[in-house]
Amino acid sequence: MLSALNLITPEQQSRPYNFAPGPATLPFPVLSQIAADLYNWQGSGVSVMEMSHRSPEFERIYHHAVTDLRELLQVPQNFKILFMQGGGLAQNAIVPMNIVQGKPTDFIVTGSWSERSAKEAMRYGNAQVVAHAKDSFSGFYGIPGEQGWEIRSDAAYVHICSNETIHGVEFYELPDLKALTGRDLPLVVDASSHILSRFIDWSRVGLLFAGAQKNIGIAGVTLVFVREDLIGKSIYTCPSVFDYETLAKTNSMYNTPPTFAIYVAGLVFQWIKEQGGVKRMQELANERSNMIYACIDESNGFYKNQVAPSARSKMNIPFVLQNDELSQIFVEQAAKHKILHIKGHKSVGGMRASVYNAMPVQGAVALVDFMKAFAKQYG
Ligand SMILES: *Cc1c(COP(=O)(O)O)cnc(C)c1O
Repeated sequence: MLSALNLITPEQQSRPYNFAPGPATLPFPVLSQIAADLYNWQGSGVSVMEMSHRSPEFERIYHHAVTDLRELLQVPQNFKILFMQGGGLAQNAIVPMNIVQGKPTDFIVTGSWSERSAKEAMRYGNAQVVAHAKDSFSGFYGIPGEQGWEIRSDAAYVHICSNETIHGVEFYELPDLKALTGRDLPLVVDASSHILSRFIDWSRVGLLFAGAQKNIGIAGVTLVFVREDLIGKSIYTCPSVFDYETLAKTNSMYNTPPTFAIYVAGLVFQWIKEQGGVKRMQELANERSNMIYACIDESNGFYKNQVAPSARSKMNIPFVLQNDELSQIFVEQAAKHKILHIKGHKSVGGMRASVYNAMPVQGAVALVDFMKAFAKQYG
């Protein structure tokens, strides 16, 4: 049990709500714990930043983090959990370098992250987009029907981004490739922006990765969950530090791992456990996102989100103002109401509310109250 994890201090009360897409808000109790540990971690006399990654102290931190994570997400034993560097984007290259073996790879594009993954994989072989949201919708507003996915019979894997952070498109359920193709085809999932907000059906997954700076902790570490049978097949040019086999054999400590980022992730896992686990995170995600989508939908067109209701993200909620000239005023006024970093991605415009696990429900309430008052004043 961490001493600072459940403190609610005046500082927390007066902090603004940070809707940034990532790096993103952290649970306040985690920040307090980091502050409490900073000069002297658990009586060790040094901070986590100053410890050897081979020390018994850090080994404890690491072991705790992996064990908690496996428990939180109910990760089966035949999946290795790796802590890697390079961010989510590095995995776009690392995945093909590790598991393609000359076969084609197929991509489902539902937003700019999966689009980038496909582009990067094309540098490593025969990658192809086999379903594109823009062919089914007027933009990145939904998930193309699975029956139309033109998956190749010799594909090494199918890649999806299960939550598109910029466009706000989420797979509520992972596709069942076995049912769809009749063979044991690995599904590769980029879950960077919604991991730990709901349970994962591991029977449908071959490999899943997530950068930490959205829902896990701070930038610098990327989690990779990889099924054992996909390990040990890398091409010879794959750097050893990015070879899943090397990392699996060394408990992600082939070289110095991002120790502080792993420590912070471990604190976040403990915080989630204390809140009631992933089940509770899922309930809270529903609560926050339902509130915000209802506000948008009930605004008589003042605010608009065009994503199909069956794929609306519970973590990243983009919306535009009917009158775009009000956008700048919206952002400025929001900041005065303790609502920060609400501006949408430049490729989409408008606003985006990123409501990750660490966003208190009170933050969503504050946003909705502000949106209603703003619409009333300017509508
Ligand atoms: C943020 C993000 C990434 C990129 O992460 P980096 O750590 O910047 O490489 C990849 N995929 C998704 C879905 C993301 O949200």
